[in-house]
Amino acid sequence: MKTLSIIVPCYNEQESIPLFYPAVEKIIEQLNAKIEYWFVNDGSSDHTLDELEELHEEHSDEVHFISFSRNFGKEAALYAGLQASTGDYVVVMDVDLQDPPSMLPTMLDYLESGEYDCVGTRRVDRKGEKRFKSFLSNEFYHVINRISKTEIIPGARDYRMMTRQMVNAVLSVSEYDRFSKGIFSWVGFKTKYLDYHNVERAAGETDWSIWKLARYALDGIMSFSDAPLSLAIWTGLVFSILSFLGLLVIVVRHFVSPAASAFGWSSLACIILLMGGLQLLFIGIVGKYIGKIYMQTKNRPIYIVQEKK
Ligand code: UDP
Ligand code: MG
Repeated sequence: MKTLSIIVPCYNEQESIPLFYPAVEKIIEQLNAKIEYWFVNDGSSDHTLDELEELHEEHSDEVHFISFSRNFGKEAALYAGLQASTGDYVVVMDVDLQDPPSMLPTMLDYLESGEYDCVGTRRVDRKGEKRFKSFLSNEFYHVINRISKTEIIPGARDYRMMTRQMVNAVLSVSEYDRFSKGIFSWVGFKTKYLDYHNVERAAGETDWSIWKLARYALDGIMSFSDAPLSLAIWTGLVFSILSFLGLLVIVVRHFVSPAASAFGWSSLACIILLMGGLQLLFIGIVGKYIGKIYMQTKNRPIYIVQEKK
C-alpha cells in the first residue's frame, strides 16, 4: 500500500486544528493508502503547539509535528514539511479547512492513474473576499504572467498533491526567498488542475493584510522575473531620445528665429525633479534585487526546528 503524507502549516491555529483532524480523517477512511501527517507549527504564540502535542499523543504512529523556534512564514513551513515527509505521495493543505478535504480521493485517483505527477487546485471565485483584494490579486496574476517565463496559474492554491519525484524536485530548489506558487510551476511535471468554489475559514483569522499580500506579490515577481530591471533601460532610452529631439528643436530655433525667448525655469525644475525621481526609483529596484542576493549569499537556513516528534 502506498503512503500519503499530509503537510499542514499552522500559525496560531488552536481553534482550527481540532476541526481539521476529524474532517480529514473522515475522508481518509475511503482512501486506499497509509497516512502520515506532518503538522508544522510556525512559531505560533497561542496553544497551537499544545494541540499538536495532544494529537501526537493520541495518534503517535500517524501524527507528527515540527515546531519552529519562531515564525518563519508559510513558505518555510511548507519546505520543512516536504523535507520531513516520507510518503510516495505528498499533499500540502491549510489547516483552516479552506482546502476542502473532500477533494483528496479525486486527487489521489489522478496520481495513481500515473497520467499526472501533480494535482493542483484552483479557486474559480473569491466569494467572501473583499472586492479590492480580489481586484489586486487578479492584477498580480496578469502582471507576473506577462513578465515571467514561469506560468503562475490564476487562483491556484498551495493545496496540491504531488508524487515523490516532484517533491524531490521541489526540495532541490533550495533558494532562501521561496515563492512556492512559482517553484511548483518552475519544476515542471504534468499537473492537473481541479476547480472549486471558495470556502471561508473554519475558525480563526487570516494573517494576510493587504500590505502583506502586496509584499508577497512583489517578492513573487522578483523571484521569477528580472523584467523590473529592464524598466530602467527602456525608460532611459525613451528619455534620451526625447532630450535629443529637444536639443534639435533648440538648435533649429536658434537659426530660424534667434530672438525667441528661452523656456521658463519652472519647466526645467520639473524635468530635473522627474529625472531625479526616476533615477531614485530605479536605484531602488536594483537595490531590492541586491538585497535578495545579499540574503541568499548569507546562506542562512530557511527555518530552525525547536522540536520534532
Ligand atoms: N501560515 C503559516 N505561517 C504564517 C502564516 C500562515 O504557517 O506565517 C499557515 C496558516 O496557519 C494556514 C495557512 O498557512 O494553515 C494559510 O494561511 P491563511 O489561512 O492565513 O491564508 P489564506 O488562506 O488567507 O491564503
Ligand atoms: Mg486560509
